[in-house]
Amino acid sequence: MPVTFLLEVVLRSVVMFVIITITLRASGKRGIKQLSIFELVLIIGLGSAAGDPMFYEDVGILPALTVFIVIISLYIGITKLTDKFRWFELILEGKPLYVIREGNLIMDSFKESGLSKDEFFSELRQQNVEHLGQVKTVLIETSGEISILFYPDEEVKPGLPIFPHELTEATKDIPLSGLFCCSQCGQLDTLPAGTHHCSGCTCEEWVTPSQSKRIA
Ligand SMILES: [Zn+2]
Repeated sequence: MPVTFLLEVVLRSVVMFVIITITLRASGKRGIKQLSIFELVLIIGLGSAAGDPMFYEDVGILPALTVFIVIISLYIGITKLTDKFRWFELILEGKPLYVIREGNLIMDSFKESGLSKDEFFSELRQQNVEHLGQVKTVLIETSGEISILFYPDEEVKPGLPIFPHELTEATKDIPLSGLFCCSQCGQLDTLPAGTHHCSGCTCEEWVTPSQSKRIA
């Protein structure tokens, strides 16, 4: 491979680097923490157009630049449309999902979110949640981020513990009557000894609810 071509690769990379930076600045986005599906499309589009002209001798920079201009114009145009028309935003980005209300998991919207319970509980644990009775509302945003509204200390209810060692203690056979919560959806119930189905999700496994306050 001729050295001159390697030097050309260096030059092409610098040029593409500058073009990518300018394009992303022009998109109006600030730092990117979580990408919505739509933003991911933008990044993939730009990324695949940016790579080739860096090291393929016969791929010019001009076609890549054209791709950049088209994609960024689409991005800006569509962003304006989603700001203006709510229905368009719903089609493109989906809607935020309420997955917990009053300390209970809403199974239907939780399934719709596509998250696994392990992932979801892990996210909650990282926000210092110990059991579901500490949270009033949890919303999964369209970016995939989780928004949590907490109960104040005096309103914390008994709720489903979300640390793995406590969940493994779920039982089908309740030895003594008392307050239990469903190991799947977190619904609270005062149950006599024996076996019972949860009225919320038909699961049969129960856990002793936790009542601790949240330590933030
Ligand atoms: Zn249940």
